Amino acid sequence: MATEIRRLTFENESANELYIMRDDLLPFSMGGNKVRIAQAFFDDMKHKKCDAMIIYGSRHSNLCRVLANLCFCRGVECVMICSHEEQEDTQATNNTCLIDWTGTQTVHCGKNDIAQTVERVMEELRAQGKHPYYIYGDKTGRGNEGTAASAYAEAYAEIREFEKKQGWEFDYVFCPSGTGATQSGLICGHLLAGDRKKIIGILISSRETKRAVSVISDGVGSYFEKNGYALSEDYEKEIILRDEYRLGGYGKYDDRIRECIRTQYVLNSIPLDPVYTAKAFWGMQEYIKANALHDARILFLHTGGTPLFYDFLAKEGAGNTRC
Ligand SMILES: *Cc1c(COP(=O)(O)O)cnc(C)c1O
Repeated sequence: MATEIRRLTFENESANELYIMRDDLLPFSMGGNKVRIAQAFFDDMKHKKCDAMIIYGSRHSNLCRVLANLCFCRGVECVMICSHEEQEDTQATNNTCLIDWTGTQTVHCGKNDIAQTVERVMEELRAQGKHPYYIYGDKTGRGNEGTAASAYAEAYAEIREFEKKQGWEFDYVFCPSGTGATQSGLICGHLLAGDRKKIIGILISSRETKRAVSVISDGVGSYFEKNGYALSEDYEKEIILRDEYRLGGYGKYDDRIRECIRTQYVLNSIPLDPVYTAKAFWGMQEYIKANALHDARILFLHTGGTPLFYDFLAKEGAGNTRC
C-alpha cells in the first residue's frame, strides 16, 4: 500500500525543503489515513476470529466511512454507534451520505451511554450467534490502542524506504493529530528504527493536551507490548504535540485556513480540508517560522479527508463570494 512521496513548492528564506506523503490517494474508499487504520482493525478482527464489527464515531467520520465500506465489500456485518453531543451540528455531510449508502445499521446514544450501548449491541449480536468485535476494545473503549497504532508503525517503513533511495533522512515529519493513532504509529516506527527524526503532531481538536499526550503514550506502549518489543523508559520525550494551532477546536477555522487551502491547491495541486489537513499544514508553516527551522528536510503526511474538501467547496465555493 505505498503512496507517493514528492517534493512540494515551498517558498521560504531558510532553505527548508518540504515533501508530502499522499496518503489521501490510498486506493480505497476515497483514501486517507483511515484506510490503513481500518485495514488494521479488520485484520485484527479476523485474527481474533470475530465476524461482526462494531464501529464508533460521528456520522461525519472518515473512519466510519472507510470501515462501513470495507465491511460491506467483505460481507461482514457492521453496526455503527453514534453518540450525540448537545447542540451538535446535525447537518449531513459527504461522509454521512457515503456511510448511508452502505446501509450500515446505526445505533444512536447519549454521550454518557456509550459503554452501555456497546455492551447492549455486543449482546444482541451474540444472541444472533455472531462473534462481535468492537474496534476500541472493551465497552469502555480500552484495550485495543495498539491495533490502530500498528497502521502507521508499518507505514513508517515506506518513509524509510524513500529515504534510503534518496540517500538522506527527513528531519521532521508533521501530521494532524486527532485521536493520536496516526502519530502514535509514526512514533513507534521512529523508536523502532532508532532514527533522529522528530515526529510533530498538530492537535486539531479541543481535547485537553495532557490527555491527548497520554493517549498517544498509551498507543505507543500498547503497540510495543502487543508485539513484545522493549520500550525505553524515556520514550515519552519523543511525543511532540503542538496545541497552539487548533483555532478554537474541532472543525473551527478562519481565513488563515481558507487561504492555506486555496494556496496549496493552486501552488501544489493538493486538496486540503479545513478540519484536519489544512489546519495541520498551516500549523506546520507557523511552527517552522516560530521555531526558525532552517536547512531542514520536512515531510508532511497528507492524511486524507477528501470528502471534507468537497464539503468545504460546496459550502464556500461555487456562487459564494468567498470563492
Ligand atoms: C482521523 C483523521 C486524522 C487524525 O488521525 P488520528 O489518527 O485520529 O490522530 C487526520 N486527518 C484525517 C483526514 C482524518 O480523517
